[in-house]
Amino acid sequence: MVVHISSRADEIQVQALEQLTQAIAQQLLTASRESRSFFAQMRDQMRWDDKLLAWAMSNPGLRVQLFRFIDCLPSLRSKTEIARHLQEYLGDPTVELPVALKGLLNFASPDSLPGQVAATTVSTAVETLAHKYIAGESVKQVLKTIERLRKDKMAFTVDLLGEAVITEAEAQSYLDRYLDLIAQLSNAAKTWPRVEAIDQVEGEELDKVQVSVKLTAFYSQFDPLDAQGSEAKVSDRIRTLLRRARELGAAVHFDMEQYVYKDLTLAILKQILMEDEFRSRTDIGITLQAYLRDSEQDLQNLVAWAKERKYPVTVRLVKGAYWDQEIIKAAQKDWPEPVYKDKSSTDANFENLTRILLENHEYLYAAIGSHNVRSQAYAIAIAQTLKIPRRRIELQVLYGMADKFAKALVEQGYRVRVYCPYGDLIPGMSYLIRRLLENTANSSFLRQNLEERPSAELLAPPQVTAADQADTTSLPVSTRQDHFQNVPDTDYADLAQRQPALQAIATVQQQLGKTYWPLINGEYQQTEAQVDSVNPSNPTEVIGRIGLMSQAQADKAIAAAKVAFPAWQRTPAQQRANILRKAADLLNQRRAELAAWIVLEVGKPLREADGEVSEAIDFCRYYADEMERLEPGHSYDLAGETNRYHYRPRGIVLVISPWNFPLAIPTGMAVAALVAGNCTLLKPAEVSSVIIAKLTEILVEAGIPKGVFQYVPAKGSTVGAYMVKHPDIHMITFTGSQEVGCRIYADAAILQPGQRHLKRVVAEMGGKNAIIIDESADLDQAVQGVVQSAFGYSGQKCSACSRVIVVEPIYTGFVARLVEATRSLNVGDAAHPSTQVGPVIDATARDRIKSYIEKGKSEAQVALEMPTPDTGYFVGPVVFSEVAPTAAIAQEEIFGPVLSVIRAKDFAEALAIANGTQFALTGGLYSRTPSHIQQAQAEFEVGNLYINRGITGAIVARQPFGGFKLSGVGSKAGGPDYLLQFLEPYAITENIQRQGFAPLEGVD
Ligand SMILES: Cc1cc2nc3c(=O)[nH]c(=O)nc-3n(C[C@H](O)[C@H](O)[C@H](O)COP(=O)(O)OP(=O)(O)OC[C@H]3O[C@@H](n4cnc5c(N)ncnc54)[C@H](O)[C@@H]3O)c2cc1C
Repeated sequence: MVVHISSRADEIQVQALEQLTQAIAQQLLTASRESRSFFAQMRDQMRWDDKLLAWAMSNPGLRVQLFRFIDCLPSLRSKTEIARHLQEYLGDPTVELPVALKGLLNFASPDSLPGQVAATTVSTAVETLAHKYIAGESVKQVLKTIERLRKDKMAFTVDLLGEAVITEAEAQSYLDRYLDLIAQLSNAAKTWPRVEAIDQVEGEELDKVQVSVKLTAFYSQFDPLDAQGSEAKVSDRIRTLLRRARELGAAVHFDMEQYVYKDLTLAILKQILMEDEFRSRTDIGITLQAYLRDSEQDLQNLVAWAKERKYPVTVRLVKGAYWDQEIIKAAQKDWPEPVYKDKSSTDANFENLTRILLENHEYLYAAIGSHNVRSQAYAIAIAQTLKIPRRRIELQVLYGMADKFAKALVEQGYRVRVYCPYGDLIPGMSYLIRRLLENTANSSFLRQNLEERPSAELLAPPQVTAADQADTTSLPVSTRQDHFQNVPDTDYADLAQRQPALQAIATVQQQLGKTYWPLINGEYQQTEAQVDSVNPSNPTEVIGRIGLMSQAQADKAIAAAKVAFPAWQRTPAQQRANILRKAADLLNQRRAELAAWIVLEVGKPLREADGEVSEAIDFCRYYADEMERLEPGHSYDLAGETNRYHYRPRGIVLVISPWNFPLAIPTGMAVAALVAGNCTLLKPAEVSSVIIAKLTEILVEAGIPKGVFQYVPAKGSTVGAYMVKHPDIHMITFTGSQEVGCRIYADAAILQPGQRHLKRVVAEMGGKNAIIIDESADLDQAVQGVVQSAFGYSGQKCSACSRVIVVEPIYTGFVARLVEATRSLNVGDAAHPSTQVGPVIDATARDRIKSYIEKGKSEAQVALEMPTPDTGYFVGPVVFSEVAPTAAIAQEEIFGPVLSVIRAKDFAEALAIANGTQFALTGGLYSRTPSHIQQAQAEFEVGNLYINRGITGAIVARQPFGGFKLSGVGSKAGGPDYLLQFLEPYAITENIQRQGFAPLEGVD
C-alpha cells in the first residue's frame, strides 16, 4: 500500500520527498487561500448563494433538507410551488433555521407576495450556486468560459451533463451531441491564440480540445451481467467517437463512474485501445479512483497493459465522486464495501497511486485530479524528484471548485486542465449535488481549508488507518448487526461470480428431461400420470417430467404426515431451526444451479432468479430465528400463580405454491410451517415442479424426517382440491390467483365428516398495483422504477406495477420517456444475459394476456406494443395511455407485461384512483413533495408502499410482504407475525400456593 521502506536509503528518500512535499504545499496553500476572514464574512455577506453554503456547513440538519430541496427545485414549475416546497423542507421541526432564513420563510401562504419573494430569492441563489460549478448551459456559454480559462493558461476538458441514459434514443443522442460538441469546439479552436503553456510541450503539439465522456451512457441497458452484449453496443459508438475526434484533432477522456461499472469499463477500453486502428493513439484517457480498495491492482494491471500496448494513454487519478453511494449500495446489498472507510486512507492511497503512476511515466501519462493542496504537492514533489517530462504529467481540477488553487498550480509551471461540465440545470442536478456534498463534507479538504485549519494538520502525511488496513473486503457489510443479516445476491459485476452463474445455465441444460416423482413418507413413488414441464422460452425443450400423485397417494401422504406429527411436534424448536439453517446453507451452495433451473423452467431472467434464491435462503434463516424467539413463550407470573403462554403447532399444513416465484415462495411457506412443528405437504404449480423437486432434495439432505415434509405434485383441480377438503388437513397456505384462493377459502370453511377443527387459510392473491408520479418526481428514477416494476419478469409478479397514475402537468413528457425506455428493453430467451423481458409462463397465460390487450385497444390508446420472438410463449411489453380508471385493463389483474397509464388532475385525484380497486397489495409513489409523501403514507391502501423506488423485490425481514382487501388474508411473509399463523397459542395457569405458602421472589 503506502510507500514501502525497505532500507535506510529508502528512508532518507522518503524523508526528502516529504520535506519537498511540505515546502511545495505551504507555497500552494498560501497562494490559494482567501483572506483570513473569508469564512466568517460569508455569513454576513449579502449574497444568498454564499449564505446557503455557509449555513449548510454549519448545520447538518439544514444541510440535508437544503440539498433535498435543491435536488427537487428544477422540477418545480411555479413560484408558488417553490415557496410551498421551501416551507415544507425547511419548516421541518428537526431543522434549526438561521434568523435570516426564518424571516424569509415566515409567510402565511405560498402564493402570497412574501412567499413569491422567498421563492425568487432562493431560486436565484441556487441558480447562482449552480453556475459556480457548471461552466455554461449552452456551447456558446461554455466557449466563453473556455476562452477565459485559456487566457489564464489553463487547458480544459468538457463534460456534457445529461439525464440518466435509459433509452436507446438517449444513448444515440449522447453520442450525437458529443460529435456535435467536438465539431463546434474544434471549429472555435481554430481562432484561439496559441497558449504555450498548454498547447505544446517539448516540441509536441497538444490537442486544444478535450472532451470527457461516460462510457455507460453509450448504451441504455449497460449491464455487467451482459458483459459481451454491453461491450458490443458501447464499442461501436466509442469507435465512432474516437474516429471523429481524431479527424477534428480532439482528445477524449473516459470518466469513471460507480464501482459496479468499473471492471467492465476498464476491460472494454483496454480492448478497443488495443485494436490496430486505435493502438497508437496517445490522446485518450482513462480514470482511476483512489477511494477503491482494488485501485492499486487496477493501476498495476494498466501499467502491464500499457507496456504491451507500447503507446501511452493518460490515467487521470481522482479520489472518487460516489463515496456515499458506494457505502449505501454496499449496505443495502450486503456486499463488501469497495471503498476505504476513512478519508485519510483514500488520501494515502492516492499518494501511493500517484507514485506508481509517475514511476511508470514512460508507459502512462499522469493527470492528477484533486483540489487537495497536499495531494497535488505530493505529485509535484515526485515529478520534480523523478524529473518527469512535462508531457507526461498534468494537474486537473473541477470548474469552480478551486480557482485560486488552479492558478497557483499554473504558477508552478505545470499544465493545468479544468474539467468543465455544461448543460441544463435539471440534468445537471446530480452533478451539482455531488459538488455541494463534496464542498460541505466535514472531511473535505476544501471545507477544512476554508475553515482555516492549521496548515500542519491540513498538510500532514495521510495514512491508511488500522480499520482500513484490516482486510474487510471478504466480509459482509456489518452496519446492521442488530438486525437479521440477509444473504447477499450474486454480484454480477464481479467476473469471479458472474462466470460460474452463466456456466451453471449451460451445465443445467445438460441435465434436462429427467423424471421427478413425488416424495411420500420418505420414498420417491412412481405415479400413473405424468406431465412435462417445459421451458417457456422454448417449449420444445422439456425441463423435466413430473409424476402427478393420485388421490390414493394423497391419502397415503396425509396418513404418513399424521404418523410423523407427534415426534416432529416434540422435536425441540432449536433442532428444527437448525435443519432450516442447514437447508439455507445447501441452497446457498447450490445457488448458481438453482437460479439456472429457475431461468429454464419458468423463464425468469438470471438476476431475478438469483434474487429468488437469496429470498429462499433468507426465509430459512429468518424463520429459524423467529421460531427460537417464539419458543420460550411468555410468562405472566404472580405470587402464588404461574401464567405461561406457549405455542404449539397446528398439525398438517398443505402448501399450494405458485409458479411465479417457484423457489422463494414455496420455500418460505413450507419452512415456516415446518419450523413451527407442523408436518407439511408441498404441492407445487405443475409448470414449476422441477424446482420444487430440487428443494425437496435439499430439505431431505438437511435432515427433515420422513413424513414430516412431502413433495406432492398433483393436479390442482382434482387431487389438489381433494387435499384441501381432507379432514386431516389443519391449515392451507396458498399463493396464487384470486379465483383459486377464494375457492380454497370457501372449501376449507366446510366442516368435513370426522373433522375436529376449523381450518386456517392463509392466502396471498393478486394485485392491481399502482405507482403515482407527481410533479416533483425525479423522472430519471420514476421512469426506470416503473419500467422495472411493470416489465420485470414480464409483469408476472403479484407485486408488479400494472397502473401508473401521472399528474396532468408532466403526463405527456413522462409517457414519451416511458415508452422509449420500454422500447429499449431486450425481449428474448430468459437464458440470455441481455434479456430483461423473458416469456410468460405458458400458452394459456399468453392467450389470456393477449385477449386483455385486445380489450385494451377498445378502451384506451396503444402507446407501445413491442414485437416478440417467434418461438416461446412471448408477449411483448404493451403500454396503454389515456386509460380510464374504471377500464377493465385498469381494474382487473392481467399478470403480464401490460401497463396502463392513467392521467390524474392532481395528486389527490391520483391517490383516489390508486385506491379505487378491489386490491391492496403494493403501491408506489415518486415524489419529492414531503406533504404528498406523508399523505400517501397515511392514505394509500396497500400492504407494501414503496416511495421513490420500484415496487417489487420485497426483502425478508426488511420489507415483509403481503396485502389486504382482495389481495389476500394473513400476515406478512418475512415479517415478525408470519410464524404465528402456523401456531396455536395456549395458556397454562397453575396455582402454586400450598396451604398459604408459595415461593415469593426476592424474599428468603
Ligand atoms: C478533473 C477531474 C475529473 C474528475 N473525474 C472523476 C471521475 O471520472 N470519476 C469520479 O468518480 N470522480 C471524478 N472526479 C471527482 C473527484 O473524485 C472528486 O472531486 C475528488 O474525490 C475530490 O477529492 P479532492 O482530492 O479534491 O478532495 P479531498 O477533500 O482531499 O478528498 C475528498 C474525497 O475523499 C474521499 N472520501 C471522503 N470521505 C471519505 C471517507 N470517509 N473514507 C474514504 N474516502 C473518503 C472521496 O473520494 C471524496 O471525494 C474528478 C475530479 C477532477 C478534478
